[in-house]
Amino acid sequence: MKRNKRGRISNAFPDVRLRRLRTSAAIRDLLQETRLSPSDLIAPIFVQEGLKRPQKIGSMPDIQRLPLAGLVKEVEFILKLGIKAVILFGLPSNKDDQASSAYDSKGIVQKSVETVRKQFGDKIAIITDVCLCQYTLHGHCGLVTNKKVDNDRSIATLAQVAVSHARAGADIVAPSAMMDGQVQAIRESLDDSGLTDTAIMGYSAKQASPLYAPFRDAAHSTPGFGDRRTYQMPYANAREAMREVETDIEEGVDIVMIKPAIPYLDLIYKTRRATKLPICAYSVSGEYALIKAAALNGWADEDAVTTEFLTSIKRAGADIIITYQAKKMAQLLAKR
Ligand SMILES: [Zn+2]
Repeated sequence: MKRNKRGRISNAFPDVRLRRLRTSAAIRDLLQETRLSPSDLIAPIFVQEGLKRPQKIGSMPDIQRLPLAGLVKEVEFILKLGIKAVILFGLPSNKDDQASSAYDSKGIVQKSVETVRKQFGDKIAIITDVCLCQYTLHGHCGLVTNKKVDNDRSIATLAQVAVSHARAGADIVAPSAMMDGQVQAIRESLDDSGLTDTAIMGYSAKQASPLYAPFRDAAHSTPGFGDRRTYQMPYANAREAMREVETDIEEGVDIVMIKPAIPYLDLIYKTRRATKLPICAYSVSGEYALIKAAALNGWADEDAVTTEFLTSIKRAGADIIITYQAKKMAQLLAKR
């Protein structure tokens, strides 16, 4: 064992002083282990059919529902900030029991994808959320038979939705309905349709979280009866979350996702150790709203907290992050 001249073991104080590496901003910056980049971030966009001008969302300050006509300007701005990906959420004019506006080739998401692709080519990665809740009258993520969410009928429809998004030009389809077998059904349908290059990002472990409330306000997707706990994950169960990740991987997912992010850093970390696949974390509307509300009251420094939260999500093991703070974070990174 090495000892210093006083006979003490040298791998401890006073020979070792961890503060040496914190003495200046330059040294701290040099040794920073986790760094955010705009290209880690995915900007969510809400596009509403039939809208004339952008519409504010009460519970999500600074986030808007956009008309199709406002999409190009928004994506242009996002690209200028160095962000390379968007995830599109559609708000259709018509809802029915079959969610037929979700797989309509002239639906709001399909038209949005075509518009962005036509304008920006492959400069931007287009991800689409694949779910039924915005498109059904009852607001559940799957189809309903006898007041129950019908898994097997739902996955067939989700596959149809994914194929329609891919045909419109989506690079990545992201099923968020938490139906068993949804990834497999989508992979098979994409392949059968010759869409073998379309990737799937699974909302693998999506928790039944109260933090989605502002999103439901934004996307008009609150369930008309019951709740989503028969399909979304019980958030107390880490082993079950890992089974969800495993089954998605077995079904052929290309990217796995943990949602929400900040209360679930342990799941991101466990997933990082369990797979070599890329991991996405979705920092959800409620996480955004909590920061915003505190900041608006002068109780938190929005820029500092946003940077801390997003850095922590990446440190836990996420490769990419969906966040309503994407644009703000990219602007903060540009200022450094
Ligand atoms: Zn849904």
